[in-house]
Amino acid sequence: MDNSRIPYRHPQPKESPPELVIPSAIPDDERVWVPQGENVWFRPLCLCASRGYWMNLLRVRKSGVLSRHRHPQPVHGYVIKGRWRYLEHDWVAQEGGYVYEAPGETHTLVVDEGVEEMITLFQVNGVMIYVDPDGAVQGYEDVFTKINLCRAHYEKVGLGAGYVDQFIR
Ligand code: FE
Repeated sequence: MDNSRIPYRHPQPKESPPELVIPSAIPDDERVWVPQGENVWFRPLCLCASRGYWMNLLRVRKSGVLSRHRHPQPVHGYVIKGRWRYLEHDWVAQEGGYVYEAPGETHTLVVDEGVEEMITLFQVNGVMIYVDPDGAVQGYEDVFTKINLCRAHYEKVGLGAGYVDQFIR
């Protein structure tokens, strides 16, 4: 008997958190974008507090230097729109492109003139450490600071601080 169309008929592991499905990753509601600097926003997708990483869209609407940072763990990126590059490398992350950033890397993200809007999906593990040109630590972000930024912003724009909870696992 062909059972290929029969769904799995047993409970999922009880420790397994609920799946997360977001119909519009690029949101219809502008308020979902969380400002993180002038002309820079992020859109949370999965804020994985239990494993210390986050998936988000980064949106930049003006050319300029974004941040110099180091990450002790890998970062994966997929460029949905526009392009960007690192001052430390000679490649350009182009629309439709995928980027793997190696653990230990310190680099400076820039969006060049002529790019009206850049949107990239990033998976960031652990921490982003912001540094000066000599590597001195200026600040950091982790999944918990991201959650706090979301809470404050969603409260402010009327979605309610609890709006972020749907993205947390
Ligand atoms: Fe990076």
